[in-house]
Amino acid sequence: MIDQATKILNETFGYPTFRGEQETIINHLINDGDALVLMPTGGGKSLCYQIPAIIRDGVGIIISPLIALMQDQVEAVRENGINAEFLNSSLNSDEAWEVENKLIDGSIDLLYIAPERLFHEYTIDLLKKSKISIFAIDEAHCVSRWGHDFRPDYMKLSLLHEEFPDIPRIACTATADQKTREEIITQLKLDNAKSFISGFDRPNIRYQVRPKKDAKKELLNFITTEYPDKSGIVYCLSRKNVEETASWLNEKNIPALPYHAGMNNEERKNNQNRFLREDGIIIVATIAFGMGIDKPDVRFVAHLNLPKSIEAYYQETGRAGRDGLPSTAWMMYGMQDVVLLRNFIESSDGDEEHKRIERQKLEAILAFCEVTTCRREVLLNYFGDYQEEKCNNCDTCLFPVEQIDQTVNAQKALSCIFRTGQRFGVNYLIDVLAGSENERILRLGHNHVSTYGIGKDLTKVEWRNLYRQLVITGIVNVDPEFNGLSLTPKANPILKGEEKFFLRKQTTKAKKEKKVKASGTTKRRAKEELNLDSDATTIFEHIRACRNELAEKKNIPAYVIFSNATLTYMAEKKPGNKEEMLAISGVGQVKFKKYGKIFINAIQEAIGNIS
Ligand code: ADP
Ligand code: ZN
Repeated sequence: MIDQATKILNETFGYPTFRGEQETIINHLINDGDALVLMPTGGGKSLCYQIPAIIRDGVGIIISPLIALMQDQVEAVRENGINAEFLNSSLNSDEAWEVENKLIDGSIDLLYIAPERLFHEYTIDLLKKSKISIFAIDEAHCVSRWGHDFRPDYMKLSLLHEEFPDIPRIACTATADQKTREEIITQLKLDNAKSFISGFDRPNIRYQVRPKKDAKKELLNFITTEYPDKSGIVYCLSRKNVEETASWLNEKNIPALPYHAGMNNEERKNNQNRFLREDGIIIVATIAFGMGIDKPDVRFVAHLNLPKSIEAYYQETGRAGRDGLPSTAWMMYGMQDVVLLRNFIESSDGDEEHKRIERQKLEAILAFCEVTTCRREVLLNYFGDYQEEKCNNCDTCLFPVEQIDQTVNAQKALSCIFRTGQRFGVNYLIDVLAGSENERILRLGHNHVSTYGIGKDLTKVEWRNLYRQLVITGIVNVDPEFNGLSLTPKANPILKGEEKFFLRKQTTKAKKEKKVKASGTTKRRAKEELNLDSDATTIFEHIRACRNELAEKKNIPAYVIFSNATLTYMAEKKPGNKEEMLAISGVGQVKFKKYGKIFINAIQEAIGNIS
């Protein structure tokens, strides 16, 4: 069976080999298994359900909350010669009727459907009359009530299991945390599903974080020096900021479009479409923008404000570099953001438990901003994907920060945890260090421990910051239920004086950073990065222009024709005939038929121009 999968991968999609666990997952579904697939953005989840849907008898049903993007998703698979349709509220009744007929007579391989549509009794009946190959639940984290993408309709998806017990289901998400994972399994009744969990590293994304200073100017500088004419997303906290930043970039001749919930639907749709379809547009948005944006060539995601959690940051920055080429996650954060986010939390109508979790998440992202160690290590550790090596592709690895030795204070902080029995929260520990005479300390006799009152030289804020860093670097553990701090094995060498502990020296001045290419000196490189020489660059620019023109004529997103990664391969290998063209990753049989000649000619033309 799997030979058939490889054949489809090669001939239909034009890719030479499977990535990561794709092959195992596909095999599992072909053999009637259910699957929960966690893969980072850009990992290649779509193929995991598209290929089994094609191979198995019947129509593959893909449930996706992203109505605005469905048409593009369908367009993209159709370009590869796959018969696909979608059903959502944007179709009129005639159009819907036509699609429904195709579902019943089985003349399509894939049907994308919005969850609210799925739950019409009518639709369920329709599905029962049809032959279904698999159900794929995309963006499965939308079942999570705690997450920021919660969709009430997703809660009803367990119905699939009840109504269609024999049809394999695959749930996909890029959201990493354990809690969401468990919720997906319970809500969707996936107890018998096999979990496929990939590492969460996005090696081609460079992380860069700085305290806020002249944010707009710094952003402009970043865009013009590192990614001129490239697509990117800029996130702001407020609508007003979005509007201001977008018009300011336009004044500086950077094509930027706003996107936020205060705009009308039409405008929002227009801007999103231009961003998806045109090359080199920057979208300035609130977090209302972005879920499911599968534009592969977003070169950077910039945050002008602190995101509310590491999860949100990772998901938002994950929208950069799906094509595997070098990309950057750039952030500027300020104390004002922290105040704002704290206010959001306190004034939200969630219960106290919920607020406590939100506060902890905010602390964690703040600590991430302030680390002096490798940022990738911190991110991956946060998601339980332990990594010990420096990545050499984040700002702290590339431009080590000025640090101050805080070993003695760290020892005080750690031994205070130890002396009080490893079960108290930060506030209490700070009170002990400060020698406070509060009733609880006296009652528990902690005014007699050796760390009582030894911390008067630091302010409460400074102690809090120190504890935060001890937590984020994994030296101290926080009990998720009672908030009590305890020591991990990493605390030992510090307490014994065998290892030192440093904190970032707070400076407001932005350091001039030399531009470092992701290639060359750094170990970590983008998977599909190719170093184009100047001739190849000329060819690339020529065929890119040619592709963009074609896309505009056909009114489909440029990347749907060929991704930039595929164009990069063409520019390097310069295919001159059918065989060579089909050998390029991303050129399948159908795309060759449609575009092969056009691109072979365009390459020849560009070569002619060079000589
Ligand atoms: P995800 O949904 O996991 O974010 P996608 O399914 O959109 O990722 O895949 C990301 C990109 O990688 C797409 O451009 C896709 O065509 C490409 N891709 C997927 N699998 C492979 C593969 N085996 N070889 C080469 N490219 C692949
Ligand atoms: Zn690093």
